Amino acid sequence: MTRGEPAPAGGSDPAVAAGAATAPLPTLEHRPPVIELIDGVKVYRTGSLAVEALRGVSLRVEEGEFVAIMGPSGSGKSTLMHVLGCLDVLTSGTYRLAGQDVSRMSEEELAFVRNRRIGFVFQQFNLLPSLSACRNVELPLVYAGVHRDERRARALEALARVGLADRVEHRPGELSGGQQQRVAIARALVTDPALVLADEPTGNLDSEATGEILGLLAAVHRQGRTVVLITHEPEVARAAERVVRIRDGLLAGEQPVVGAEVGR
Ligand code: ADP
Repeated sequence: MTRGEPAPAGGSDPAVAAGAATAPLPTLEHRPPVIELIDGVKVYRTGSLAVEALRGVSLRVEEGEFVAIMGPSGSGKSTLMHVLGCLDVLTSGTYRLAGQDVSRMSEEELAFVRNRRIGFVFQQFNLLPSLSACRNVELPLVYAGVHRDERRARALEALARVGLADRVEHRPGELSGGQQQRVAIARALVTDPALVLADEPTGNLDSEATGEILGLLAAVHRQGRTVVLITHEPEVARAAERVVRIRDGLLAGEQPVVGAEVGR
């Protein structure tokens, strides 16, 4: 099933199994955007110094889009990625992820949202070196409380989808950089997330592996996933169907929100 299709009633979707089946499933036209960020401001305070990393960013990403966020070093990309990934919260403004307001959630609630709704792909792969590829992919399902047999089956399926069916028992150190990033993409997909968030996913790869990974992310998008890619490289951003530019804490064409002028 692609994300564009409604889930079959009573299928293997955990949200359905958990009782969401009683609520009518929204049709595609009524589904909320996956990302709805409105006037997002993020101020870092260190002693008396305040740095505005985001000065009023608004961004809307619909289900099934593949968007690249591009900007130079220091422009606010990491800060925006942390906010979009629920790794940090806004100082002011609103962020709704798949219709759920996450702007003012507690750390515990954010951890739950991260685990269930977002698949992360990082520059450094972030795989556990002592675990096999399969066990690494299973990890988000361990945190989600999925039974062992189902975990393994879903991890094997995700690894097959990224072309690594013949490497499931290899540890990260026994795989190439490109293969390690494929494992990370399988781990990002295994929870069936609303959003795949890739932060400089090719930053540690040579040009051949970069091409492979961008091709794989494009394939993930064609299967109906929503993908947001953060990069400082225009060639990488070109893999996406839409490019959003960030500079000095604002997206192209934005004005700072009133009251966000702190310590610049
Ligand atoms: P990018 O990822 O585009 O390089 P960042 O989001 O890391 O940009 O940084 C945006 C601005 O916020 C920079 O001026 C940076 O120095 C500042 N900044 C980032 N993180 C912190 C922090 N934890 N504390 C203080 N300032 C920060």
